[in-house]
Amino acid sequence: MKKISLIIPCYNEEACLRLFDVEMAKIVEQMKNYEFEILYINDGSKDDTLNVIRQISKRRSYAHYLSFSRNFGKEAAMYAGFCNATGDYVAVMDADLQDPPAILPEMIKVLESGEYDSVATRRVDREGEPPIRSLFAKIFYRLINKISDADIVDGARDYRLMKREMVEAIVEMGEQNRFSKGIFGWIGFRTYWYSFENVERTAGETKWSFWKLLKYSMDGIISFSQMPLSIASWMGMGCTGVSLLAILFIIVKKMVFGEEVQGWASNMCVMVFIGGVQLFCLGVIGQYIGKTYVESKKRPHYIVSECSDGKIKKVG
Ligand code: UDP
Ligand code: MG
Repeated sequence: MKKISLIIPCYNEEACLRLFDVEMAKIVEQMKNYEFEILYINDGSKDDTLNVIRQISKRRSYAHYLSFSRNFGKEAAMYAGFCNATGDYVAVMDADLQDPPAILPEMIKVLESGEYDSVATRRVDREGEPPIRSLFAKIFYRLINKISDADIVDGARDYRLMKREMVEAIVEMGEQNRFSKGIFGWIGFRTYWYSFENVERTAGETKWSFWKLLKYSMDGIISFSQMPLSIASWMGMGCTGVSLLAILFIIVKKMVFGEEVQGWASNMCVMVFIGGVQLFCLGVIGQYIGKTYVESKKRPHYIVSECSDGKIKKVG
């Protein structure tokens, strides 16, 4: 019998988890010819999430959990899930039912047809999302696909069913600055895209503010592309070229018209412009150095303070 592992990152999800458990129980009942393992990852929730998870794991033999010592973020929670999942097929699923469990049987069917190694999902619409967020998301996906090796689909969710081989490749990618959408694309494998209409959150609220998303997308670009560094050096070259021309112009002008003291305003403009470009480029380089610094410390991605069974990796 094949085993399906589901990874459920939970941060302040007390309002959703009971509903999620009921929905999941239906699916487990429906797919009797598979063994299930549901791994709840409590990502340092401040509400009663951990208690709810404890109760679920007592009631359902297939439910297991691990609880982080603090909030490490969804990326760390997914990584902890991948490190500890033991199934032949593994999927990440949000706790708020925005990733419909009901489509799992169809996803399994596609995977077992043998043509694909993973079944990924994408939302075909962004209904219920603020327009400015959708606009930025569109720009981000265009940009990152142009400038990086990570093949990222607009509207892609983290909800994705994978074969064991793919999970092992993901665990091997132990980088600190994790951007899963990029990692999934980068490792390759044959992926089938399953589209569904956006589902609103069951209860509670989204953990992603606009600024958090903007920072996350910047991290994604820096993790998967060196294009910003190239842009910085091109700007440097461009400015050098322009200033060489300006020097030539000033020398010729002085030889033809003689000495004259004027041009304070234009002088200031050039200085401020060059100063700005330099600071911008330093900032870009700083971003990469900062990420390198974090990587070089090789700190664990997560620390577990409590778990449901002994086999779980406490630090990873
Ligand atoms: N999540 C998490 N840690 C965090 C933020 C979110 O584990 O720091 C979980 C959250 O509980 C949910 C999933 O990640 O199961 C997706 O979060 P959310 O629904 O807020 O994101 P959205 O669906 O709005 O993109
Ligand atoms: Mg959600």
